[in-house]
This record gives sequence, structure tokens and C-alpha cells, in this order.
Amino acid sequence: MTSTWTEPSNTATALLLLGRGSDPASERGVDCPGDLPTPSDPDLVARATAAKAALGDRVFVLGHHYQRDEVIQFADVTGDSFKLAQQAAARPEAEFIVFCGVHFMAESADILTKPEQQVILPDLAAGCSMADMAVLGQVQTAWEHFEDLGIAGDIVPVTYMNSSADIKGFVGREKGVVCTSSNAKRALDWAFEHGSKVFFLPDQHLGRNTAVLEMGFDLDDCVLYDPHKPQGGLTDEQLRDARMILWRGHCSVHGRFTLDSVNDVRERVPGVNVLVHPECRHEVVQAADYVGSTEYIIKALDAAPAGSAWAVGTELNLVRRMALAHPDKQIMFLDKAVCYCSTMNRIDLPHLVWTLEELVAGRVPNVITVDPETADNARVALDQMLALP
Ligand code: SF4
Repeated sequence: MTSTWTEPSNTATALLLLGRGSDPASERGVDCPGDLPTPSDPDLVARATAAKAALGDRVFVLGHHYQRDEVIQFADVTGDSFKLAQQAAARPEAEFIVFCGVHFMAESADILTKPEQQVILPDLAAGCSMADMAVLGQVQTAWEHFEDLGIAGDIVPVTYMNSSADIKGFVGREKGVVCTSSNAKRALDWAFEHGSKVFFLPDQHLGRNTAVLEMGFDLDDCVLYDPHKPQGGLTDEQLRDARMILWRGHCSVHGRFTLDSVNDVRERVPGVNVLVHPECRHEVVQAADYVGSTEYIIKALDAAPAGSAWAVGTELNLVRRMALAHPDKQIMFLDKAVCYCSTMNRIDLPHLVWTLEELVAGRVPNVITVDPETADNARVALDQMLALP
């Protein structure tokens, strides 16, 4: 059977979304310090294959689900950010962990791996716009305000895995927990056993969707803390009354899906199942049929009956791969326009070839290192997540 996959249309911003452009004002990192092969080099696949074979067990390549196909073909394991960090930790014999993902993921891998292992990000400009929306200084300012109000003792901080090591370190220091999109409810249940309020970082949508749709909170129980406004743009009374204090951060990829995208696909494809990630806006998640993490989405599509139709609200590389892997099902992208993660897409085959060949030559490029104190504190919050019931 042939695939029913239709590529979404390009938009004016497609080139930036594909990672061929950059926005230095909002992305962390620097330009590649070495000589990259050109993308048109016909030997790229052969060069990556040869370099990886030469390195053997010394290198372990991790590929996030949102990576390009040209990169994923060289991954020893694929997964979401937490699964990949765990996989890295389970490979103590690998000297080099090449993380085809974004900066915060490589930081988590560095925290969880042995000190002698080196974690490498093939392009240092592969950041995450959501993680970059919560900066340690801003978060500390907010916490000091909570202390002045006398409510800090009631608050348990919870940070999504998609945050910098600095933020995970802060949360560990303040006796909080890290969560993923798979265990956010369990993390919030635990947090509310240890306090009467939660300070949720940095993804407002995951925090709100979990609290309202899975725990029965009212939207009024949640307030939005805007780090760019004095006192987060909130009155003392609002902060005292709130149960969920949500940081004003979001994913620029999942935040693009709208209620119109859902209504439109339901009109075009009668009987379609709408399946979205909880990083999507509240109204989109409310209107969807199924909501879950990247791993949940993959399992749901794998298990779907032949002939069923699915509109999927998550990153395009993953949706396209799932559609091509299941030609007997009608799997489509929820939006009509392209929606790649621009920073994930910065890792391409030329960067991977350059990284692997540098390692073969005895040079170790783009090492991601978290300072020991931050790593120790972040590990407390990560261990607390692993200990969740
Ligand atoms: S998809 Fe969103 S949360 Fe994931 S790396 Fe890209 S910007 Fe960050």
C-alpha cells in the first residue's frame, strides 16, 4: 500500500523553521568552530558511516524523535529527552555521547553520565526556545518575591525536563522535582503532598493542561507569572490565592497549533482522530481526542487500526516518519503549514559528519559541561522524579 502522506505547505518563514537561518538574539550558542562539509557533498553518508565504524563502541549516538531523517539513520537509539538521557547513563563504556538533540538535553546527559564521559552537541546553536524563556536570574527574582510575601514555604517548584541545568539546579536546591510530559501528573500529585502551591517552570501549557484536565483544577486556580513585568504582572492577592503559579514560557513549535487547526481538519476529514502533545495550548488540548507525550503519540499511532485517520499535533519530522512507517493508516500533520523545530533542525548531516570525523582525528568538539554544584543540585531534582510513586 502506498503512503497517504502529504507534505504541509511552505510558509514565508519556512527557511528559518528549517534551521537554515538563525536568530542570534534569541538562540544560545555560537557558530560551528570547524570546517563543515557542504550539504551537497555526495559522500556524507559514506563519511558518517566510516567515521562511526572507526570509533566503534567509543561513541554512542543519541537521536531525539524530532531530528531529521538524515541524522536519525545514524542514531544508536532514538527517544524523547528523558529516555535519551537514561540511555546515555546506561552506556558507561562509551567515551563520547554524541547528542543529536538540543542544549538542555545534552546538559541532562552530562549530569547523568560519568565524569570521564564527554557529551557532545554537534551544533552549539541547537538551543530550545522554551528552555531559554526561563533564565536563572529571573526565576530567583520571582522566588525572592515569594519569600517577601511569606508564601515561598508553601510552594514546591516543579520544572519540566525542557529547562536549563541552572533551572533544574534551582529546583533541586528548593526541594522540588523535575517532570516530563509523561509523568507531569505524578510530579504534581507529589508536589501537592509537600506544599499547597506549585511554581511550574517553564512551560505554562503543560502545567495548565495537567492541572486542569488531569487533576480537576479550575483555570482560576492558575496564574501566569510574566518575568518581563514587575512582580510577574500579578498582585500579592493573586499570588496568595493561586494554587498553580505558571511561568510564562511555551514551545514555539507546539504553540503554533490553534483551535482553527483542529476545527479545520475535522471538517476536511470526517472521523479523524486528533492526537496532540500537552505542550499545545489549552484550547487545542481540550478540543483534541487524545493527548500525550511523544512516546505516547508513537505508541498510539503504532496501535491504531488500519484505515483509521489521525491528525497529529507535534513536530513535523516525527509525524512524517510515523506516516511513512504506517502507509495503511491516514496520518497527517494537524496544521496546513510546516512546523519544524528550528533549533532541532540545526543538527544536520554535515554537523554530524564533522563531529564524528573530529573524534576520529583525536579532537573532541562542542563538549557540554555542567558545573559540579549545579549538576549536584539538578541531580537531586532528577532523582526525586525517578523516585516518584
Ligand atoms: S520542540 Fe519546542 S520544546 Fe522541543 S526543543 Fe523545539 S522549541 Fe524546545
